[in-house]
Amino acid sequence: MSRAKLEKLGIDLPLFPVTSVGSFPKADGLGSARTEFARGKITREELQRREERATAFWIEKQEELGLDVLVDGEQYRGDMVAYFAENLPGFEPGGLVRSYGNRYYRKPIIVGEIKWTQPITVEWWKFAQGLTKKPVKGMLTGPYTIMDWAFNEYYADRRATCLALAQVIRREVEALIEAGCKIIQVDEPALSVRPEELPVALEGLHAVMDGLPAYFITHACYGAFEHIYPKMLEAPVDNFDLEMSNSGLDMLALFRKDPFTKDITFGVVDSHSHVIEDVATVRQRIEQALTVLQPEQLWLDPDCGFKTRTVEESVGKLRVIVEAAREARAASVSTR
Ligand SMILES: [Zn+2]
Repeated sequence: MSRAKLEKLGIDLPLFPVTSVGSFPKADGLGSARTEFARGKITREELQRREERATAFWIEKQEELGLDVLVDGEQYRGDMVAYFAENLPGFEPGGLVRSYGNRYYRKPIIVGEIKWTQPITVEWWKFAQGLTKKPVKGMLTGPYTIMDWAFNEYYADRRATCLALAQVIRREVEALIEAGCKIIQVDEPALSVRPEELPVALEGLHAVMDGLPAYFITHACYGAFEHIYPKMLEAPVDNFDLEMSNSGLDMLALFRKDPFTKDITFGVVDSHSHVIEDVATVRQRIEQALTVLQPEQLWLDPDCGFKTRTVEESVGKLRVIVEAAREARAASVSTR
């Protein structure tokens, strides 16, 4: 239980804090702005101005909805790995590679020593945090996932690549902490892809987080968690943010066998579906979660990022989570 750690950091959150995984759909005409910039029709300054406007839109929206821990919505990012690769010496852009479904992304290539030369995410975090009194999470991609989603032509093997990236991500964590960021999410969606490599992923997270004063969250999604649970609990994170609803909450069976020892941000709506769940469905998922988890452990969010949803779907789903959280808080007070 990490409530004490949050308190020590000066962060006061209600029961069942509501947050989101990280990405929101591009808002305020930003999608076309990127194409216009690529075609030389608008300047970099104009693109930046529109990215700031889109970020402000999402901060305002999250406040209006009543979320407790906010994100900047990643309006200025394309892909969660390419964004870091573009900003780190040692990487070169690669060709298009097919990922899940019919989505394509550019798989970067590691061609030399990866170096951290300056903050990557800090200015955006400061911009977003400057718009609200609610805590805004720092958002980074973890070393194991960057390694897994890039080609390596420089380091000896996957572990060496992961650990080199971990040193770089740690510098970025330190820069965020120095700027005043207290809740930092280091995403490892690839965590469960190769269960035999879990020790490498854990070693990477230790190298990123050990000894640093922040509340750490790690988001992981899809894959075979039954092969990495409960070993994954050895990660130095305070809170695992997990996709639960798309898989019918089947991980609860694992938690029943081996108790979940950290805080959990529990995905209570499906990010891959257009359908907006009703409050009763989300309440029921919270009730099921509480059959194996303590109320103090439980945070609520969507299963995954909302990059592929529309603005309306994203707002609709977040609204339902906030409403269900309010009801669950009220119910929890009345039963004590
Ligand atoms: Zn995800």
